[in-house]
This record gives sequence, structure tokens and C-alpha cells, in this order.
Amino acid sequence: MEKTLSIIKPDAVSKNVIGKIVDRFESNGLRIAAMKKIQLSAADAGKFYEVHAQRPFFGELVEFMTSGPVVVMVLEGKDAVAANRALMGATDPKEAEAGTIRADFAQSIDANAVHGSDSLENAQKEIAFFFAQKEIL
Ligand code: ATP
Ligand code: MG
Repeated sequence: MEKTLSIIKPDAVSKNVIGKIVDRFESNGLRIAAMKKIQLSAADAGKFYEVHAQRPFFGELVEFMTSGPVVVMVLEGKDAVAANRALMGATDPKEAEAGTIRADFAQSIDANAVHGSDSLENAQKEIAFFFAQKEIL
């Protein structure tokens, strides 16, 4: 069993599709081990996405991620990191395969509905960024 971090981004939260996105995970072999709705500060978002600090879109990414509340979750299941990425679809929703979360709920490469950890190592770091051990059940 693996654990990974998922974030329902502000665009999807404001579209009131939290439940529909959670259903994609629960219907496809992933279990919600932790979940909370929070408002990220610019410092939180900047630290979370610090690997992208030098990219030209970093400022917009931080602005977008702080534009409204997000839902952060720990997903657990077999090959959870890859399973979540497959359910999410490509970063750019225009390139995302039909039936993926981004194809169905996202508008653009910046407002792309969900985040998912891209490796087991990053999943462990990202989970620890948001959750205490006693919150993961
Ligand atoms: P995430 O990390 O959010 O799960 P990802 O792993 O599919 O997405 P990354 O390459 O890690 O994609 O980029 C992080 C986020 O930065 C993307 O989700 C997207 O919102 C934003 N982003 C990436 N590339 C661009 C771009 N060319 N223009 C604008 N925003 C971008
Ligand atoms: Mg990424």
C-alpha cells in the first residue's frame, strides 16, 4: 500500500465538485486516509511549489493556489502515486485523456482542478507538509 497527496484546487472547490472528484478516487481503488479544507497563504503555496520557484509561471501559480480554499487529502491504495496521476490526466486539460479529472473538471493549464504527488519521495514530503501523523487514519 502506498500513500500520496492530492489537492482539489481553488477552481474545482469553487465549482462545487469536491464530492464528484472524491468519488473518482473512491471508485477507483483509493481510500481517503486524511482530508481537510484550508486556505493557503502565499508563503504556504510558495513553499509547497518551491521546485517551480524559477519557472516563469511561479507567480501566477501561487496567486491561483491562494485564490480560494483548497481540499488536501491523503489517498491510500495500491500504487497510489501512479494511480492518482492516471485518474488526474495531463497537466494541460486540453491534452488530458477523456474521462480523467482534468478533462472533465479543468479549464486551463493553470486552473487544472487537482494536484497529485509525482513520486513516492515527494508524496511523503507533501503529506508531512500538510498533516500530522495522528491525522492520517
Ligand atoms: P501538479 O504539481 O499541480 O499536480 P503537474 O505535476 O501535472 O501538476 P507540474 O509540472 O508539477 O504539473 O506543474 C505544477 C503546476 O504549475 C501545474 O499543475 C500547473 O497548474 C502549473 N503549470 C505548469 N506548467 C505551466 C505553464 N506552462 N503555464 C502555467 N502554469 C503551469
Ligand atoms: Mg507536479
